[in-house]
Amino acid sequence: MPESSSVSYDAIVVGTGPGGASVARELAARGARVLMLEQGDAAPLRGSMLQMAGMAAVPGKGAFIHRDASLLVRAITLGGSSAINFATAAPPPPAMFAARGIDLAPALGVLRAELPMAPLPDSLVGPMAARIMLAARELSLDWRKLDKMIRPDACRSGCWRCVAGCPFGAKWTARDFVDQARRHGAVLRERARVRRVLVEDGRAVGVEAHIDGKTETLRAGRIVLAAGGIGSPRLLRASKLLARPAAFFSDPVVAVMGSVDDLDAEAPGAEVPMAAGASWHVDGIALADLTLPQAMYQGFALQAGRVDRLGAHPRTLGIMVKIRDGIGGRIGQHWVDKTLLPEDRAKFGKGVEIARGILERAGAHHIFASHHFAAHPGGSLRIGDQVDSGLQTATPGLYVCDASVIPEPWGLPPTLTLLALGKRLGQALV
Ligand SMILES: Cc1cc2nc3c(=O)[nH]c(=O)nc-3n(C[C@H](O)[C@H](O)[C@H](O)COP(=O)(O)OP(=O)(O)OC[C@H]3O[C@@H](n4cnc5c(N)ncnc54)[C@H](O)[C@@H]3O)c2cc1C
Repeated sequence: MPESSSVSYDAIVVGTGPGGASVARELAARGARVLMLEQGDAAPLRGSMLQMAGMAAVPGKGAFIHRDASLLVRAITLGGSSAINFATAAPPPPAMFAARGIDLAPALGVLRAELPMAPLPDSLVGPMAARIMLAARELSLDWRKLDKMIRPDACRSGCWRCVAGCPFGAKWTARDFVDQARRHGAVLRERARVRRVLVEDGRAVGVEAHIDGKTETLRAGRIVLAAGGIGSPRLLRASKLLARPAAFFSDPVVAVMGSVDDLDAEAPGAEVPMAAGASWHVDGIALADLTLPQAMYQGFALQAGRVDRLGAHPRTLGIMVKIRDGIGGRIGQHWVDKTLLPEDRAKFGKGVEIARGILERAGAHHIFASHHFAAHPGGSLRIGDQVDSGLQTATPGLYVCDASVIPEPWGLPPTLTLLALGKRLGQALV
């Protein structure tokens, strides 16, 4: 028999990634009584591969292997995938949202003023990224520094740990917004896995959650699902509010890597990834430097069958080729599967060719490409389809605010867009 809490909230927010943390912060700042329920834990980020593996490499929880052996990852922890992401910021495409009656400009304006968001100073652009940038520019590519959600004063050169969870407070994560929400009185319960939404008389009235070994029912006037591109459609299905398994995009990536013999670096192989890059928006292809921690590099080399390159990490330049894939595949309750469409393969073919050209220009040899992998599941409960432009589902009182609601194939860093959607929803709900 579930335990029923006597406390009632104005809003329950399920998940604390960028979408959930942003809406919770906005609601709490405006005086709403907010409960945040997060499946992961709030242990301080240590920047260790072991801690990262616990958040994002447990099969079926943070990591999903598709039928074609490609990998999809998300992080189950306070702050969601922002805890381990690469901190690259990009604004939402205005036309995509304007077509659905959504103007994110006001929210973006405020966010830009309060978030750390700028290109890295040259002192923090690693030697590998700098060498790739030089080679790309020699080929007349429009290769520019990217906006990073990083506080340069706290960031250390020769360090790679932001990708495992920055322990120095240099990288912005959604934990920053969770902390602000809590300062405004919001309540956080970690290790709280929501199982389903409770509906009475056709309206969402609460959730059932597994917390500390017990099942609890928690009630609120508004329920916001922000469990991410995989978690939110699963919750709707578990609540019998979604007729069939959701399809999704994942913005898959291939890493193209090659070794050089003359790298001048104090800490070779240790730098902030995605310091600079170029986009071919029309084609849905984006490229950026991608220096990975040694263990991740070796995993990709092994997967590509390049045992001969396992020891080459300190000398290997990497370029990420990311594509805007079509919406497809299925999110089941116990599995997630998506394979590439022929047009997705064609994009990879073109992007990998450009990346090879840059690496050759940079003097790299033994160039090889990894199998594709992905980290941006979204578009699974799209605006105009499963939610309206106010992010409300067909069930009154039930909203979705995370990467699920992105209405079209994407191919961009989603975080800033989700923060803006969360801010806008928080304002509307109050
Ligand atoms: C390696 C990597 C690199 C990336 N690099 C970038 C980048 O450079 N720039 C960028 O913009 N984006 C990047 N991303 C993607 C970005 O981090 C995600 O798109 C973003 O975090 C998605 O936010 P969200 O709010 O949709 O959900 P998530 O961040 O997925 O958060 C969802 C939260 O819900 C919780 N949850 C799930 N199910 C339940 C449940 N049943 N009950 C309670 N809680 C639940 C999860 O634990 C999680 O905390 C990267 C991602 C990864 C993994």
